Amino acid sequence: MTRREFIIAFGALPALAGACRAVRLRSDPFTLGVASGDPASTSVVLWTRLNGAGEPGVRVDWEIAEDDQFRRIAGKGSSLALKELGHSVHVEVENLRPERHYWYRFMAGGEVSPVGRTRTAPSEPPAQFRFAFVSCQNYEHGYYTAYRHLAAEDLDLIVHLGDYIYERRFGPSTVRQHEAGEVFTLEQYRARYSHYRSDPDLQAAHAAFPWIVTPDDHEVSNDYAGAIPETNALSPEQFLMRRAAAYQAYYEFMPLRRSAMPAGPDMRLFRKLSFGNLIDFHVLDTRQYRSDQPCGGERSPQCEDALAPNQTMMGPAQEKWIMDGLRSSPARWNVLANQVLMAQVWQLRNGIRTYSMDKWDGYVQARKRLFDFLAEARPSNPIVITGDIHTHWVSDLKLDFNDPSSRTVGTEFAGTSISSGGDGNDSAPEDVLASNPHIKFFSNRRGYVRATVTPSLWTGDCRVLPYVSRPGAAVETRASFVVESGRPGVQRA
Ligand code: FE
Ligand code: CA
Repeated sequence: MTRREFIIAFGALPALAGACRAVRLRSDPFTLGVASGDPASTSVVLWTRLNGAGEPGVRVDWEIAEDDQFRRIAGKGSSLALKELGHSVHVEVENLRPERHYWYRFMAGGEVSPVGRTRTAPSEPPAQFRFAFVSCQNYEHGYYTAYRHLAAEDLDLIVHLGDYIYERRFGPSTVRQHEAGEVFTLEQYRARYSHYRSDPDLQAAHAAFPWIVTPDDHEVSNDYAGAIPETNALSPEQFLMRRAAAYQAYYEFMPLRRSAMPAGPDMRLFRKLSFGNLIDFHVLDTRQYRSDQPCGGERSPQCEDALAPNQTMMGPAQEKWIMDGLRSSPARWNVLANQVLMAQVWQLRNGIRTYSMDKWDGYVQARKRLFDFLAEARPSNPIVITGDIHTHWVSDLKLDFNDPSSRTVGTEFAGTSISSGGDGNDSAPEDVLASNPHIKFFSNRRGYVRATVTPSLWTGDCRVLPYVSRPGAAVETRASFVVESGRPGVQRA
């Protein structure tokens, strides 16, 4: 929907004209906090959502300032929180200055929201850019202590790579009890997000930095592929109804631009964000357009289907988009914000090599098309950042993973989970690491990856916590890896 279409649609609801007069709300509407996202050099999205509002439309005023006391106002206005969008508010503020901190807040029904801080992108190459990426925050598996630490880091940005919620209960762990039954309807997805977003550590991380977000599977349902659910309990038509509800709830709760507003079961999430020619983030969507997991869908040998050329991870339109975007990128570092592990990983089962079919290992020719492109077009410094796997993995991406002497086309930093999987431990799958020599690091602890990027050097710090089963864990850097500009391949710092 374009801005004009939105205004027309919204102008066609005459009942709202009366309803948007200032109303007095029954209780504090801002218990879900505030957020910002998708920063550009002169604009950013500001987000909030009114909790417990019953009216069809509620007027929400917003203001953004250059200081946290709101003395130097940089912009202000009003928006309408519509019942149809769960009383969410997405404001795209324009006319900001590049590479600056801003503070923002909302007012509705006589109440004032918490203050959030955000930051615009640089327009010139900055000397340094710092961000962290996160994924997989199963609420009942543990505390969000990692977010408490993230909120205190000195960052320009957070990137979330998916599994922001879990649609049902997974595993026996119930560190934090809550109603985690399976969600199907829009109201149920909304309730799940509301519960997750009530967490104060998560709210603090949203209020501290702008976020770039992209979903994985659990925002809809485990291991879905395009219109195909994991099990055939729902027909593709029924599953697309569920996907539409899930995408709408995702949009409502995330600081996304209007260009991402879903139309039924479709939502445009792949997009590029640029930071002063130092970094381009090419944000991928590897769920909505992918073909079904091959070879039974689980861990298995690579059967013929895994190697089939029509097997797609991104869909043809997105595949063309990423290659065009990389080919024309003026950035020194090209980040692919990706969901599932891109590096090949095999493990012997009964003497046979097995692979995880939900990962790029189930989409071998799609990966080969991307890697052949990287080898031939040579875009500047490709770095893949990945979620989903609930453990840290740092790997060189090889043109031919079965030949250690083949060319390195990029590096993958897969970040561990915020909480999914619980405390973890310090053991490693030594057999897997020995047989996949392009993998340089593994850790089964919760946390995140912090990246410090300069024109000449990429540094990735694998941050870990000793436990998430109770609050208060300290954070530490378990290992740091660097990539030198112009020299593919990762080295221990
Ligand atoms: Fe996950
Ligand atoms: Ca996942």
